[in-house]
Amino acid sequence: MINELEQNFHRIQQRISDACHEAGRDVEEVQLVAVSKTKPSHLISEAANLGMKHFGENYLQEATGKIHGLQPKPGDWHYIGKVQSNKTRDIAEHFDWVHTVDREKIALRLNAHRTDRPKLNVLVQVNVDNDPDKGGCSGDQALTLCRAICDLPNLRLRGLMTILSQETNPREGYESVAQLHREIGTQLAEPHRDSWDALSMGMSRDLEDAIFAGATLIRVGTALFGERR
Ligand SMILES: *Cc1c(COP(=O)(O)O)cnc(C)c1O
Repeated sequence: MINELEQNFHRIQQRISDACHEAGRDVEEVQLVAVSKTKPSHLISEAANLGMKHFGENYLQEATGKIHGLQPKPGDWHYIGKVQSNKTRDIAEHFDWVHTVDREKIALRLNAHRTDRPKLNVLVQVNVDNDPDKGGCSGDQALTLCRAICDLPNLRLRGLMTILSQETNPREGYESVAQLHREIGTQLAEPHRDSWDALSMGMSRDLEDAIFAGATLIRVGTALFGERR
């Protein structure tokens, strides 16, 4: 018996491989981040058993409960929710990646709380459609923030992340973030340029457009785990 999660996973893998084929990219370049917010821990274990290696969570209290309960660790934990400055300790202590750094104050605090562990992988969130309801710095501010993060010893700057609003054309929106990613990459100093390799964009509805533009981390919830309540 093949269950729903397994079926959904196969569908997503097929979509990823079709999109990579169309884009002339290697499927190995694209990692699936399974967005498990609001879903029970047993589904995360099942997903890990099927071979998923990256898990994304938005709500800190829910996430830390799951992270403590799931041992051995099912994979890398990615924080993809809004970062409030009073939550930076919990984030730095529990996660492997943070996708949503959008100001220097947050970076400084994450760095201060990330001690005696491997560096925390960090992405700078950019708000390309200037949607006031979303987090993210403007494209103009991104380079300055990236340079500030490079100076912090406990963080490893990896790339950019974006969430597009429904009204933005996904091909154009993701292409503009990919363009910004290339531009910033040329302006970082050497040791940081080598790890500037990640672009987190694309969700259930538009992962093909994101892969076409160059996404390396796609964040998929609904198409894997079903609708959220
Ligand atoms: C919930 C969420 C996703 C997953 O969205 P789906 O449409 O369910 O695939 C991706 N990224 C972020 C930042 C999210 O909050």
